[in-house]
Amino acid sequence: MGANPTAAGYPSVVTTPDDTPLWLFADQLGPAVYGGEHSHREILLVEATSALRRRPYHRQKLHLVLSGLRHAERDLGDRATLLKAETYTDALERYGRPVLVHEPTSFAAEKFVHRLRKEGLVADVLPTPTFALPRAEFAEWAGDRTRFRMEDFYRDQRRRFDVLMDGPDPVGRRWNFDEDNREPPPKKQDTLGAPKPYQPREDDIDEQVRADLDRMDLNTVGVDGPRLFAVTPTEAKRALTRFIDHRLTDFGRYEDAIMSHDWAMSHSLLSVPLNLGVLHPLDAVHAAEDAYRNNNAPLAAVEGFIRQILGWREYMWHLYWHFGPSYTRNNELSARAPLPDWWKTLNADDVTAECLRHALAGVRDRGWTHHIQRLMVLGNHALQRGYSPSQLTEWFATAYVDGFRWVMPTNVIGMSQHADGGKLATKPYASGGAYINKMSDHCGDCAYDPKQRLGDDACPFTAGYWDFVHRHQDRLARNNRTRRAVSSMERLKNVDAVVAQEAKRTHF
Ligand SMILES: Cc1cc2nc3c(=O)[nH]c(=O)nc-3n(C[C@H](O)[C@H](O)[C@H](O)COP(=O)(O)OP(=O)(O)OC[C@H]3O[C@@H](n4cnc5c(N)ncnc54)[C@H](O)[C@@H]3O)c2cc1C
Ligand code: SF4
Repeated sequence: MGANPTAAGYPSVVTTPDDTPLWLFADQLGPAVYGGEHSHREILLVEATSALRRRPYHRQKLHLVLSGLRHAERDLGDRATLLKAETYTDALERYGRPVLVHEPTSFAAEKFVHRLRKEGLVADVLPTPTFALPRAEFAEWAGDRTRFRMEDFYRDQRRRFDVLMDGPDPVGRRWNFDEDNREPPPKKQDTLGAPKPYQPREDDIDEQVRADLDRMDLNTVGVDGPRLFAVTPTEAKRALTRFIDHRLTDFGRYEDAIMSHDWAMSHSLLSVPLNLGVLHPLDAVHAAEDAYRNNNAPLAAVEGFIRQILGWREYMWHLYWHFGPSYTRNNELSARAPLPDWWKTLNADDVTAECLRHALAGVRDRGWTHHIQRLMVLGNHALQRGYSPSQLTEWFATAYVDGFRWVMPTNVIGMSQHADGGKLATKPYASGGAYINKMSDHCGDCAYDPKQRLGDDACPFTAGYWDFVHRHQDRLARNNRTRRAVSSMERLKNVDAVVAQEAKRTHF
């Protein structure tokens, strides 16, 4: 093992005895963490009740985490000890042996591990093995850059890991096929018609988890439901194979589209196994590249999928650390409205706007919606209505089954709410009903009209968009990419009436 310091400053040389056990956090449940040079070690797993109680998590998220931990215990057999305790510290004290651990995935957990190390409960801290690019290498890449472009990072990732490369050039002579990937949903179809995604078969462990969660009477949100996502390395492999062999072909093409009767469309549903650490990102990337090289999937789809994982996911992970713990407090647009109760309690039935009702119902029923519903519907609504970005970050982290601490700030504060003033995205992701109408099949069934900005049937996204542009016109006028929105607003005859109407709107 190398002697480089990790990004967090811990030495990565294992100086501890060879029989030191390895403690796995609940998002470190795969062979990249406990296999290879650690294959001989005993494993400690902890179910800490205080962590389950700390926040109002989605019921299905708690199920996935507990199911993942308990399946890891079973799969690792004699190597594993699973302790149930009130806190992690209680469990480590009861275990009675110092443990090795890999760098955890949040600032708070990092601080905690650092304290445990001082107290002697943790013997050593190793670099995180669940992402492709080591943190120290990203720090080198970032250098003293002040502006970050995902596309630059992504191209360097392709070169660094030799993915979809033809010598020094990108395969197909293009780095990015995004332009080919923005189709609206196909007409006269209710669904994309893609083969169904992989769904794990629940077993006795899931049954026990369900019973335990019922008994624990936790303060959760959302409804219980069948387990939809992979939580073990074996399940993750099946989910990946199913996606690559049957669903990858249309990935990308309809990536920005929404269909009322197709919750999964062509998305991979791999964020949960990736974030639990049971699927390594490079395994997903290589499987997709192999599909292209073996003529089983078109380049645009494969490149689009690889960009999500080797590009966006890695980028968000590294920027979480790079931007630091204070990033979540950014609020450049001074958005201070509290999240409404109907939103916090996932009360979709109280919502009239079809697109919003549908997205919120997806969170309630599955703890998951696809990317464009997160960005174009939920995030867009929150941006227009000026919801507090830090409350929204907390909401996404608890209400989504794939919401882990590291993934939220850059996605919510940066990409979705522009609360960082443009460090991550060059303009706010605000759009009106016309765009939602183009990219979804919702508006035909909606009581509102996407073309109307005034009156009883005024679309809350269309009116909300102009209200947003009006509120932030000075800032938007200074940005080349948003200046035109301000001039269009200035040409509207009744913008003051729209602003007055939206100030009074309490129902959506
Ligand atoms: C407001 C907002 C909140 C989000 N919250 C989360 C979250 O809590 N957890 C999470 O993993 N992703 C989050 N994302 C990113 C993305 O929406 C989800 O990763 C994706 O929808 C998960 O579904 P999938 O696995 O089918 O993804 P696919 O559409 O199949 O994409 C493949 C993979 O790419 C990765 N990916 C793509 N974009 C991103 C991104 N922006 N950030 C991180 N990974 C990305 C994911 O691992 C995903 O599994 C969020 C995005 C936004 C705009
Ligand atoms: S009309 Fe407006 S609120 Fe209704 S579905 Fe379309 S965009 Fe959403």
